[in-house]
Amino acid sequence: MTISYLPLEQWRKNWRVSGNRIVCRHCRTALEVTNAKRPFAHAQNCKCRDSTPEFPLQELQRIRDELDQSGLRRRAT
Ligand SMILES: [Zn+2]
Repeated sequence: MTISYLPLEQWRKNWRVSGNRIVCRHCRTALEVTNAKRPFAHAQNCKCRDSTPEFPLQELQRIRDELDQSGLRRRAT
């Protein structure tokens, strides 16, 4: 079941997870999860360069923590 949670949906608008990589949906740059401590480097002309977090994986984890705390995830599963 897919959880509908706005911050998570917004995250998914800019990123997708492909195997062990996080991919920007706009410039298609990929970052290995193992390199997630490095800031994400978009393509020069990427339109979401300035509007997305430098560390998308940490952002995703933060959103998931919030979800856990809100109890939404438990209700949804
Ligand atoms: Zn990008």
